Amino acid sequence: MRIPLIAGNWKMNKNPEQTREFVSAVKSKLPQSGKVETVIGAPAVDLEALVESSADTQLKPAAENCYFEDAGAFTGENSPKVLSEMHIPYVIIGHSERREYFHETDEDVNKKAHQIFKNRMTPILCVGESLEIREKGETNKWVEDQVKAGIKGLTEDQVSRLVIAYEPIWAIGTGKTATSEQAEEVCAHIRKVVEKLYSEGVAEKMRVLYGGSVKPENIKELMGKKNIDGGLVGGASLEPESFLQLANYN
Ligand code: PGA
Repeated sequence: MRIPLIAGNWKMNKNPEQTREFVSAVKSKLPQSGKVETVIGAPAVDLEALVESSADTQLKPAAENCYFEDAGAFTGENSPKVLSEMHIPYVIIGHSERREYFHETDEDVNKKAHQIFKNRMTPILCVGESLEIREKGETNKWVEDQVKAGIKGLTEDQVSRLVIAYEPIWAIGTGKTATSEQAEEVCAHIRKVVEKLYSEGVAEKMRVLYGGSVKPENIKELMGKKNIDGGLVGGASLEPESFLQLANYN
């Protein structure tokens, strides 16, 4: 029932020309979006190139961040309203790098989620624990708190369309993937949290991705898990070849 989603997160990599080159290299080999949806999250400076080059392809653009107001005196921020006017369907929010280096709080993430939905886009809301929290055995509680704070006040309809990405911080960019069992356990917990807050129907519709050193070698096993609906992929999304292998995992 849930359409798998393979989402790249380029972080602060590539320029507009490289963006166009990437899209032209992958566009004829992508799966049909009704079977596996493919998304690339690109830096704001590349979004225009991404939107233009991916029009009429199966690839959908995502922003990696936005502000929670549509316009005003907020120097350096990106307007969710303008992202929506640019026909960008997804915005990544709450990535651990945003939380750590740019002090994005759960409250900010929640305000952004509301504003993104208001502008008819879909948030990809990232959550995940540090190694310290995992070693203390507090992962589920930590992730649960982040999810609850992030989705506060959203409607049933919004949560059923939401994408949550579970990304353990210790697995991001380290080559150290969570085992598929560890990933499944937390993704299942996230769905349970949403089921308790909303309903089983809402929780069953919502997509939960795993992120953290996802690569062509481990995607199949991760996708075999019941509660993992896709991947949020950093490093392995930068090369057309490996992105295509991820997108065509089955
Ligand atoms: P990685 O990054 O795939 O390079 O570990 C994942 C992410 O930060 O979304």
